[in-house]
Amino acid sequence: MAVRLCDLCQLARYTQWYAEFHYPFRFTILDCDACDVPMAVLGEHRVEVTPEEVAYMEKALDLVAEQKFRGKFAKWIFDHKMRQIPDHYHFHVRPLLW
Ligand SMILES: [Zn+2]
Ligand SMILES: [Zn+2]
Repeated sequence: MAVRLCDLCQLARYTQWYAEFHYPFRFTILDCDACDVPMAVLGEHRVEVTPEEVAYMEKALDLVAEQKFRGKFAKWIFDHKMRQIPDHYHFHVRPLLW
């Protein structure tokens, strides 16, 4: 079986990286080059995630968002819609502008 590699499997290093988690599972937090906001990217090419995995990634991404958005935005939300790469789990954190 051929291993499929997408852009999120082969993360480029030209934006800001914040954290790489290895335990309890692999994921990376970095700035999205298209949206310029932080996002969490699962370390495996799959789209099914457990609620525990999502909760863990949200907690980590929230820490990064707090550092990045504090003083500029009052609130931010997790955006779990995957538009460009729908088969590799990732989600953004976006400031609320209103
Ligand atoms: Zn992938
Ligand atoms: Zn993006």
